[in-house]
Amino acid sequence: EQLPGITEDSHSPRQTPGVCWSHCTPTAVASPEIRAYFSEVADDLGIDAADMQTPEMAQWLGGNQNLQGATPYSACYGGHQFGHWAGQLGDGRAITIAEIVNNNQRFDLQLKGAGLTPYSRTADGRAVLRSSIREFLCSEAMHHLGIPTTRALSLVTTGEQVVRDVMYDGHAAPEPGAVVCRVAPSFLRFGSFEIFAARQESDVLNQLIDFCIKRDFPHIESMVDKSREQKIALWFSEVCKSTAKMVIEWQRVGFVHGVMNTDNLSILGLTIDYGPYGWLDNFDSNWTPNTTDAQGKRYRFGNQPAICRWNLICLANALATVIDDLDIFKMGIALFDNELNDGMLAMQCNKFGLDNLAENAEQNAEVINAIYPIMQQSEMDYTLFFTRLTELDIDVNNLSTTQFDDVFYDESLKVNFEQEFKDWLKSYVKLVKQQGLPADQRQGTMKQANPQFILRNYLSQQAIDKAEKGDFSEVDKLMELLRTPYDISKDDADYLSKRPDWAKHKVGCSM
Ligand code: AMP
Ligand code: MG
Ligand code: MG
Repeated sequence: EQLPGITEDSHSPRQTPGVCWSHCTPTAVASPEIRAYFSEVADDLGIDAADMQTPEMAQWLGGNQNLQGATPYSACYGGHQFGHWAGQLGDGRAITIAEIVNNNQRFDLQLKGAGLTPYSRTADGRAVLRSSIREFLCSEAMHHLGIPTTRALSLVTTGEQVVRDVMYDGHAAPEPGAVVCRVAPSFLRFGSFEIFAARQESDVLNQLIDFCIKRDFPHIESMVDKSREQKIALWFSEVCKSTAKMVIEWQRVGFVHGVMNTDNLSILGLTIDYGPYGWLDNFDSNWTPNTTDAQGKRYRFGNQPAICRWNLICLANALATVIDDLDIFKMGIALFDNELNDGMLAMQCNKFGLDNLAENAEQNAEVINAIYPIMQQSEMDYTLFFTRLTELDIDVNNLSTTQFDDVFYDESLKVNFEQEFKDWLKSYVKLVKQQGLPADQRQGTMKQANPQFILRNYLSQQAIDKAEKGDFSEVDKLMELLRTPYDISKDDADYLSKRPDWAKHKVGCSM
């Protein structure tokens, strides 16, 4: 490694000034078993599907065996949590075990839940099966939705129990433990940079910036006519743009991250760290799945773009401790604002099948923005609404709302809002007809913008409940469905319906 690190293998929790990483081997577990893996991720890594089923692979992906010659490490990063600087945070339970180059692409492989690291603070470095299944499934659900994300290779059960926050009779009950192997070209976060600014370690910060540009942004590094400062400007601009693109995609599919602290924002604009995330059922811009954020709702659905911007400013503040030209940061943030403005409208036009021409912008925005308050107050399902809208025959003479019947959660709200919704539908159809896009083109765009299948919380929970009893069949089923979210067979229609009533008050869990 060219970055400063601690080469002595130690797990003892401590502050690690002056270094970007610490050598640290995973702690072995009782009986690692690969319960599920994504063969497409194995493929990307050049790992044979047959090899995924060997006991050796389980030993490696469970953290019991190291690759010969590899130096497993945990990275040092900090972050702003819920708006406040929180100091050194990680990697508290993630250990990078290998770097793989395949087809000219490089990937880091990281075990989450692999035991204590120098950054574990007061916690145990472990992960429970339920949160591991959630990360494993959602990473790939996002990928197959076309959203930038860290990937998930494997789900390993450990044969050990972990104590977490699920309470029975006032006691925290032990739960089965697990290890997920996640995969990304880079696990650097905004907080990876902030920690060295906070510690006034300018040398390390500069080294990390150069390392990141060289390794993760090689197209910028190779611009021979650019000065270092110009490269950094381009780099920061790209971070701003990719962050905007990522959050627009979250809004498109109704994904709520839940813990958008700066240690959970990737320098590559990848969705990272699947904890108490959730998916909108009924549309509600104020909703957050994170029960620890219930008061301030800082990370609510509608606030995600603004939080991305806030986090980029944190990153800028950190970088500004070693970069004099503040225009670099102003330009980057302005790019974020532009990208967000244009991108949000373009994304929504795709969802509604509207023609995103500049001269249409005002009318498009007017019709689009008019439906959200109705959707929210009448509690329509976000995903189903767009599925039904995609199916809508705009040439029918008597426009009716009946084909939207199953979009509503509450019969009386449906009735109350029927006229308002009908009026909106009329104005929408009028605009669509006026724009005159060919029907197949319009519906094609809408189908690609509107997933039929999303990983609703209750579906994950059902899979988890079975898996905790040793039955992984529902995990397998969800793995199959999430691979084709825009094209689900009629036989699986059950998985496309809105959240059942019994699941209403069950919310996501955290660690
Ligand atoms: P999160 O809010 O999930 O991003 O967690 C913040 C930090 O806490 C992470 O960067 C982890 O390093 C650390 N952490 C979370 N859970 C554990 C755990 N069980 N053991 C050790 N560290 C943890
Ligand atoms: Mg995290
Ligand atoms: Mg987490």
